[in-house]
Amino acid sequence: MIKLKYRTGLKDMPSYDVVERDWNIKVNANESNLNMPPLVEERLMARLSCVAFNRYPNEQVDTLAEQIAANFNLTKENVLIANGSSEILEKLFFAFGGRGRKIVFPWPSFSMYKIYAKFSASTAVPVDLREDFTFDPIAFVDAIKENKASLAVICSPNNPTGTKIPVADIEYIAKNIDCALAIDEAYIEFDGGTVTGLLKEYPHMMVARTFSKAYALASARVGYLLANKKVIEMVSKACMPYHVNVLSAITADTVYQMRDEYVPRIQMSIAERKRMSELLKQIDGMTVYPSVTNFILVKHPKATQINEYLESLGIGIRSFGNAPRLENCLRLSMGTREENDTWYKAIKDFVEGNV
Ligand code: PMP
Repeated sequence: MIKLKYRTGLKDMPSYDVVERDWNIKVNANESNLNMPPLVEERLMARLSCVAFNRYPNEQVDTLAEQIAANFNLTKENVLIANGSSEILEKLFFAFGGRGRKIVFPWPSFSMYKIYAKFSASTAVPVDLREDFTFDPIAFVDAIKENKASLAVICSPNNPTGTKIPVADIEYIAKNIDCALAIDEAYIEFDGGTVTGLLKEYPHMMVARTFSKAYALASARVGYLLANKKVIEMVSKACMPYHVNVLSAITADTVYQMRDEYVPRIQMSIAERKRMSELLKQIDGMTVYPSVTNFILVKHPKATQINEYLESLGIGIRSFGNAPRLENCLRLSMGTREENDTWYKAIKDFVEGNV
């Protein structure tokens, strides 16, 4: 048996794992539980029937970048399309990181930041959110300065806490640091507060967005980066040639053209989040963190048992087990009203001992 020489550190690197099985109700990955609106699907199918499958996907990706740029009053040179915002984030860690470089982000936040830091051989510097998961901009700037960071990443609204980081705080940071500042706006459509309006004023600032959440397109893996021309040019160098496939580019382009079709369901998700937050507060022992996303983080002394009970009913939620700072926390994505009523009743019955 040949002993294969894997890259140093790969063996100890955690994987991105979500417990997956054929759930009856799946609210564990912050996806949309509604598929593509029929009108969008109809338009998409017509476009897909004309694809030149023999050609590399230059034109379609450019068309999507132009469309997105126009929406933000930017040019296509300010936009990089990629395979989900995951690819964008990974490339940002690569482009600004490296051996001896430090990358600062609030914690707890999106679990992949620590993995991308390792992957890019950079040092991750997580800065604790306050006890109630609110963000301390002064502590964050201090950490960036003390560590002479090359990149700071802020997830707003933050996953998994659901909390918003005020635009004023982000502007304060942009003003007071001299490194790259990336804002991960994966959940921004669920309550606004975008920093895209600051991009022209702060050329060291960049915004990562995704089609996976509000636009219900997790399957296609499309995300984008908005940034100044030079940043886009440099980060693009880290991408493979033709990294976004033609099917995903046309799908995202069609969805973006028809994004008004998604407004009612985004509003529904927001309304459900508000309704479910209020209901969850009524459960004995439950702490409910304020959310501006399509999910809610809660804490309960019996979180592990609640999760096991829901699993036994085929309901998939995200449990954080004993993860530091997230002990006894559960994250629930907003499904349809009926799905939300079902998981809520199951949690309530379990806590009240009615099972
Ligand atoms: N950022 C955050 C905060 C996320 O929660 C996720 C997905 N869970 C991503 C980025 C990546 O999303 P995608 O690659 O699907 O765009």
